[in-house]
Amino acid sequence: MGIEKIVIVGGGTAGWMAAAALSRIKAGRNVDITLVESEAIGTVGVGEATIPPFVGFNELLEIDERELLSEIQGTFNLGIQFENWGNRGESYIHPFGAYGYSMGGLSFHQVWKRFKQAGDNRPLQVFNAETMAAYFGKFMRSEDYQKQRDDLPPINYAYHLDAGKYAAFLRKYAERLGVVRQEGKVSDVAVDGESGFVTSVTLESGAQITGDFFIDCSGFRGLLIEQTLKTGYEEWTKWLPCDRAVALPCGRDDGSPPPPFTRAIAHSAGWQWQVPLQNRNGNGHVYCSQFMGDDEAHTILAGNLAGTPQADPNFLRFVTGRRKKFWNKNVVALGLSAGFMEPLESTSIHLINTGIDKLMSLLSLDGITQVQQDTFNRLTEREYIRIRDFLILHYNATQRDDSEFWNYVRTMEIPDTLRQKVDIFKANGQIYREEDELFTESSWTAVMMGQGISMEGNHAMVETFDLEKTRKELDEMEQSIRFLVQNMPGHAEYLAKYCPAKAA
Ligand SMILES: Cc1cc2nc3c(=O)[nH]c(=O)nc-3n(C[C@H](O)[C@H](O)[C@H](O)COP(=O)(O)OP(=O)(O)OC[C@H]3O[C@@H](n4cnc5c(N)ncnc54)[C@H](O)[C@@H]3O)c2cc1C
Repeated sequence: MGIEKIVIVGGGTAGWMAAAALSRIKAGRNVDITLVESEAIGTVGVGEATIPPFVGFNELLEIDERELLSEIQGTFNLGIQFENWGNRGESYIHPFGAYGYSMGGLSFHQVWKRFKQAGDNRPLQVFNAETMAAYFGKFMRSEDYQKQRDDLPPINYAYHLDAGKYAAFLRKYAERLGVVRQEGKVSDVAVDGESGFVTSVTLESGAQITGDFFIDCSGFRGLLIEQTLKTGYEEWTKWLPCDRAVALPCGRDDGSPPPPFTRAIAHSAGWQWQVPLQNRNGNGHVYCSQFMGDDEAHTILAGNLAGTPQADPNFLRFVTGRRKKFWNKNVVALGLSAGFMEPLESTSIHLINTGIDKLMSLLSLDGITQVQQDTFNRLTEREYIRIRDFLILHYNATQRDDSEFWNYVRTMEIPDTLRQKVDIFKANGQIYREEDELFTESSWTAVMMGQGISMEGNHAMVETFDLEKTRKELDEMEQSIRFLVQNMPGHAEYLAKYCPAKAA
């Protein structure tokens, strides 16, 4: 059976990202796309930090970056600063670009370690342009200089955004391309008795919307994928036990400029995010209800803000894990209905993005096949597991023993997949990236070294390096990064020229 009508249930970030991307297929084939959302239910309203592939998502939609950032109070993001994770008082940046470049088939950090052993005291960070720009509060895009100076390293960046404004921006985009928005609360879902396929959703008003293919973007409730199709959920709370968050936006009362990075500040039973937009900071405290109550979590957050709160605290509950199938029958789950991992590495919007990519490449409007579903599910499961392991690393690689929470995560059993990764790194600094996993060698290195896991041995090849010759390369690398950062404008100055925010 061909697909002529696609129905998207939910109009949060996931729903409108899916609508905007799918609206582009309308140009080639006559397919109706309807998005149903309920203002009365609203959206989760958080989700403000992104990672670099998100820039590519918007480019694919041919969205003008300056216009987008102006509309969504956007700022640039060069990485995440983790504070108090390995130990209290320590911090490091997980940058969005690589440390140096690979040399003689070795990763840069393996070569760097050899130099360190030979008495070179330069920290790894000076070989990463994003980290250095972040430390100095500077920013520039590669396009601004690479035509004149292609010897300078590129700058990898993402955005900080106002989630509500981003959804509204995409709504305009998708509606312009013919997506029909239907306001109303879904009160009933009909399923075909034989195939088990969803056939329609009915709104409280009585209006019925039929469809051949459904995208469940209804948030944590999983209206179609779970409440209707009973797909099942695999919990990962034994490894990622945080299950609550409280969000509280605030001003920057001292008028300080927005830093070009996200902050993730560990507390006694979880951590706090700080996301700088042009007009305010997004803040939240993710915590574990087994070790901390709502009042205490709120008090900690309120005591660590850069300015006056701009809303009432928004308390959220979640269960970390994933849907057992992301594509079931004629329903694909995207966003919070597909699963949830805390926003420690800003991966949720990214998973919406890659879900849409996979759907766009696998979907045939001529009908749904089992192999499409199986492929989508296999690839998505793999992606979730790799990200899960990376997040667990942040909790487990710690020396903190100052609370029951940290004692639990420091001593918990971790998945074998992660254990192997850590053991191999310890042996000689090797990072094996599994298939097309999101996080790069530099990402794993940043977190492992940032949180106290060291390379105990050397890679066998490193001994063959001519140190004097290689030192020159290292010096040039460091100097070009220093030159680049010195010549960058401040982040706030760049924003003011490139994409000043429209009035809030
Ligand atoms: C504490 C927290 C912090 C986060 N921070 C980040 C971050 O920094 N970076 C990041 O990438 N991600 C982050 N996320 C995740 C991010 O917020 C979500 O991935 C993103 O907002 C997508 O949400 P959604 O669209 O799936 O769900 P929602 O925003 O909940 O939207 C659900 C939609 O479904 C509609 N709906 C539900 N039921 C019905 C019904 N019966 N009838 C009609 N409509 C219905 C609602 O009206 C709404 O439009 C965070 C999440 C949480 C919980």
